[in-house]
This record gives sequence, structure tokens and C-alpha cells, in this order.
Amino acid sequence: MEKENDITKKQIRYIKGVGPKIAALLNKKGLNTVEDLFYFLPNRYVDKRSIKNINEITEGETVLIIAKVTSSRSVYFPKARRRAFEATVQDSTGSLTLRWFNVVLPYLKELCIKDNTVLLSGRVTKFGKNLQMVHPEAVLLASEAKREEHQGIIPVYPEISGLKQGTLRNIINQAFVQYADSLCSIIPSGLEDLLGVPRFKDMLIKIHFPDETIVDEASRQKYIDRLIFEEYLLFQISLQIKKQSTKNKKGIAFINKGDYRMFFEKGLPFKLTNAQRRVIEEIEKDMGSESPMNRLLQGDVGSGKTICAIAAACIAIGSGYQVAFMAPTEILAEQQYFAIHRFFDDMGLTVTYLRGNMGKERMDIIDSIKRGSTNVVVGTHALLQDDIEFKSLGLVVIDEQHRFGVMQRKILKEKGLFPDTLVMTATPIPRTLSMVVYGDLDVSIIDEMPVGRQKIMTRVFFNRENHIAFQQVEEELKNGGQAFIVYPLVEESQKIDLLNATNMAELLQKTVFPNHIVGLLHGRMKPDEKERVMLLFKKKQIDILVCTTVIEVGIDIPNATIMVIEHAERFGLSQLHQLRGRIGRGSKSSKCFLIASEKLTPVAKRRLKVMEKTTDGFQISEEDMRLRGPGEMFGLKQSGIPEFRLGNLVRDGYIMSRAKKAAEQVLPKLSNRELDQIKERADMKWEDPVSVADIA
Ligand code: ADP
Ligand code: MG
Repeated sequence: MEKENDITKKQIRYIKGVGPKIAALLNKKGLNTVEDLFYFLPNRYVDKRSIKNINEITEGETVLIIAKVTSSRSVYFPKARRRAFEATVQDSTGSLTLRWFNVVLPYLKELCIKDNTVLLSGRVTKFGKNLQMVHPEAVLLASEAKREEHQGIIPVYPEISGLKQGTLRNIINQAFVQYADSLCSIIPSGLEDLLGVPRFKDMLIKIHFPDETIVDEASRQKYIDRLIFEEYLLFQISLQIKKQSTKNKKGIAFINKGDYRMFFEKGLPFKLTNAQRRVIEEIEKDMGSESPMNRLLQGDVGSGKTICAIAAACIAIGSGYQVAFMAPTEILAEQQYFAIHRFFDDMGLTVTYLRGNMGKERMDIIDSIKRGSTNVVVGTHALLQDDIEFKSLGLVVIDEQHRFGVMQRKILKEKGLFPDTLVMTATPIPRTLSMVVYGDLDVSIIDEMPVGRQKIMTRVFFNRENHIAFQQVEEELKNGGQAFIVYPLVEESQKIDLLNATNMAELLQKTVFPNHIVGLLHGRMKPDEKERVMLLFKKKQIDILVCTTVIEVGIDIPNATIMVIEHAERFGLSQLHQLRGRIGRGSKSSKCFLIASEKLTPVAKRRLKVMEKTTDGFQISEEDMRLRGPGEMFGLKQSGIPEFRLGNLVRDGYIMSRAKKAAEQVLPKLSNRELDQIKERADMKWEDPVSVADIA
């Protein structure tokens, strides 16, 4: 690509005919470079080969007409009490009235200025004895337009205020004249055929200069898909370049001298699921290779991720290395510790739990880590920040961390450490999205639950039926279970009229459950206060825990068998799924009630119904993405989900899969120069695809 004519940088004003005024109009629409203009695609096409003369049209027909405006006016029909805007148009064969009821939009007035040439499409109806078109689609043509010039298929572009369609078409035409030579795919020439994709340049030209093959929507979409593929391919190649650069770092090739793998198999209290087996194999392969493992393990709550991490730990320890297990909070770290220490104890290994404030004991532990007599250390993420020295850190396991360890990896790197890392998350995201947000990680998925799991029965109720849910809570408590009742807010809010946890805890204690102990847990409580409440709940000294979403991640209370979520419509599906994952962890079957407002929209209702139908986190996240879009799903802008010019992952995720495969094929065929160019282009568009991974 000639640097001089790099269309990604070339400003629009270099196109002949684009002066400062037009440039300003285009800039306002976000069109700055020649490339922007190439990617400014027509909304639709008008097939002018079927343009009719006014004297040929008949009532009931849908027609296309080119005519000149002769007059326009606002009128009022007293009988019908309707206002209308009328225009009369004329061609060489006759005249016709256009009517728009109850709207007088400024653009209509402007469009219907006398002597404007307009292209009209719509249905012809009768008004009295005369023919008319009501609410026709109208496009302003260049005033000098002659009918013969508009015989073909004409692209209709999205409206740019102040710029006529004809002028815009001329500019785009000129852009192609000057710069089409610099227009090329990032796929090296010849490879497009090999990949079985149409030529990028041909497609772009056809979209702007349509022929009869493009008139219908399906073929138009096919051409556009090729452009989306190009965009995704650029993204995927840049990700893979990034991934490669991590892979090139020298890590540890674990040779697993010890017999820990055997111990592992022997010590297993259950039979691994096929999914667990597969994941462990993937981990073994990573750990056996010299480049550092960088793997994300996705699996629903209760799918058994911990045992996979234990297997990884066994491999590391067997090769003489230490392992760090990290969780986001003290409660979770402690839980993690209890979940794994028995396993390692049985193997004769030393596991220590490093709490925040543990006094003198802490020094002893730090010392044992440094000496290497501790094999496994469990703690919060502070584990890395503190000046703790490992004798030989080989593996880091990061649990329940959606922000995946980007921070942790950075800290490790600064310390000059390149241990293998395994990040685990119980927040499944749609596969197509995971290709984007976790693009530079290898992803393993556990998509199978251990046998014998109790299903969670879920029902959606309206506010007025919430007593039914509370009755069920009463039942459940009678049978020795415990309950969660979840609210969206901590305290009363003046802005929104929602129930809040603080008031409701009090109210429920007094009025609905006077004979049970109601506790309160929310995010504004101090950490040790939270911990105290959680502990009381764990020890069954609290029967009902009224809480906010703080209980979302990781907490394990097998005796909690029922959950009521009020204002359920305020939560995202994935969030509801996370919340629901707090129950159904024991041997008893569990129930979840989603209480929603009577005023739900049909879409919101459908959304909640998904929760009744399935407990599969992947299915729920797919649905969540479909209904809310990827950005919304993860809290909009800060989600950092890259924005694509044309691509829309909800609709065309399959193209992303294809692009990923193609990127693998294309990458080895690129020269260093080409790689640099691709990197530069991608960085310009999507700054840092890794930080994208910061999903809150
Ligand atoms: P999560 O994926 O949520 O971290 P855990 O690893 O904590 O899940 O596993 C949840 C529970 O399931 C644990 O009590 C664990 O011992 C048990 N478990 C894990 N794998 C299996 C299996 N293959 N068969 C039976 N129980 C299993
Ligand atoms: Mg877990």
C-alpha cells in the first residue's frame, strides 16, 4: 500500500469537488477519511429501470416516478379534522398530488420547493376522482437530473443534512476515481480465492455502483458480509499477533516428574465429567509447552472448575513449583481454601491461607513461601501486591475474576515472573463475544454439569403475587432450609421508587417472618461486618438473608434452597443467572422466584421467561445478548467491547468465527511489513484489545 495514498488517513477534502463546506458537512456525519467514505454504504437501492410516466400509473399500483415539484401548501380538511401537507408534481405526461397527513416536517418543505426534481416511490390511491400518493418515499435528485441519467439502479445513502443525494453520489464516485487503486484487502493477493471469499474490492465497488445482481436484499447483504468479514479479520489478525507475542515469552515447560497426577486420580472423590477431562487435557498440553499458559476457564456455577485447577496445580507441584490461588474477596479466598486444602493435605502437601490481618503468624507463612516449604498459597489478589517472595512460582490460578487478571499479569511481568496462569469465571458469555473479549486468551469451556445435580425450579410472579413466594419461603424454612431475598437497592432512593434491602429486612422481620431470623447483607457494609453476617448465615444462625447483589459471586451455602428476587426486571439475565447460582448447591431441590412489575413490556416479560426455561448459563447469555446487545449486557461503554463499523456481533457472530479461522490461515503468510501495517491499523481502531477484557 502506497503510504501517500493511505485511504485510512487521507482526509476527505483531497477528493476533487469537496470544498471546506462539503467537508464540514461530511465531517459532521463522522466521515473524515476517504476510507470512511468508502464505508458509507447505501441503505437501499432504487431500481429505476421501472420508472413510470404519470399517465401510465393506475390506482393500487406501487410505482416509481421522477417528477418536478410545481407547488406545495399546507391544507386543513375540516370534516376529517386533519392537517395535511400537499405538493403537486409533474412530468412530461401529467401531474399528481402528494399528501402527508399530520406532519409538516422541515425536510418535507425543503424537499418540495418549486422546481426540485424528486424521485418518488409508493402506492397510488384515489382521492375523489384524482390519483394521489400518500406518504410516498421521496428522494431529492440533483436538480439538473435528466430522466435518462437515472435509468439504472441508484444507491440511496443515509441522509446527510445539507447534502443532496446526487452530490453525495458524485463525491463517492470521484473518491473511487482517485483512490480505488489504494483500496485493497488485508488479505494478501491470491489468498482471497484460497479462503473462498469474494474479492473485497469488487464487493465494495458493487455496493456503491450496483448492477442488477444487487437489487434484492439478500444479495446486498452478501456483499456487505464480505466487508464485515474484512473488518473482523483485521481484528482477529491483530489479536493473534498479540497472542503470539505472549507465546514467544519463555515460560516453564512442566515435565511433571512427580506422581501427583496419579495421586490426583486416586484422590478424586468423584468421576470427572467429560468436559472436565477435556479441559484438564487442554491445561496439560499448555503446561507442557514452553510458552506461558494463558488460559481462561469458563463454566457455570457448580460445573466443577475447582478440580480442574487442582489438576493444574498437581502438574506444577509435581515439577517442583509453587502455586498461588487467588480470589477477589476474603470470604471467597477462605472458601477456596476450605475447598482445596483437604485434597492437598491428603497428598502430603502444604497449603496455607494468607489472610489480610493475621499478625505474627503471617510472617511465618511468608517465610515458608520464600523457603519453598509451602506448596500452595491461597489468598486475595493482594497476594501479588504484597512483597511476598516465592521460591519458585509456577502457576497462578485466579478465581471468579471477570477482570481477568490483566492487572495480575502486569504485576507478575513487572516482577519478572512468567508463571502459567489459569483464570476461572462463572460468567459465561456467548461464544461469539468471547472470541472478541477474550481474544488473546485460550478459552476452555465446561459445558456439562456433574450428574445428579438438582434442577432449580424458577417462576416469574407479579408484584401482587409476591405473598405466594413468601409462603414458599415459609415452607422451605419449615423443612430446615434457608432463604435469600434479593433487592436492587441498598437504601431508599429519592429518585427511583424501588424496594430496598435495608427497609425490607426490617419490614419482613416484623410483619412477614416474625418467627424467623432475618439478616441483612449489602455492599456498603464494612468487610468484616459482611463476613460476620455471611458466617452467621453459613452457621444457620440467620434463616433469611435479605441482600443486594453482593452475594453474586462464589458464595457457597448448600443449605440455602430458595431465593426470591424482587424487581427482577431491573437485573440483567446474566446477573439473574449468577444470583440464582447461589442456590441449588446442596442435595435438596431449590426454588427461585422472580418478582416483576405488572407494567412489564412484552420484551421484558420474554426476557424473564427465559429464566424459567433454562439454567444453562451459555444459553442465557446468548439470549441476553440477543435482547440487549453486547454493549448493554456488560454495562455499555466501559465494557470496552470493540465497536465495529459494520459488524454487529448479535447478528453476524458467525462471520467472526470464520474470520478467526481465516486469521489463523492468513497470519503465517504475512510479511513483517504487512504485520506492522495491520497492527497499526488495528491499534488505530481499537486501541487496546486486551483492556477490552475488563468486563465488570
Ligand atoms: P465451580 O465451577 O462453581 O467452581 P466447584 O468446582 O466448586 O464448581 O464444584 C461444585 C461442587 O461440585 C463441588 O462440591 C465439587 O466437589 C463437586 N464436583 C465437581 N466435579 C464433580 C463431578 N465430576 N462429579 C460430582 N461432583 C463434582
Ligand atoms: Mg468456584
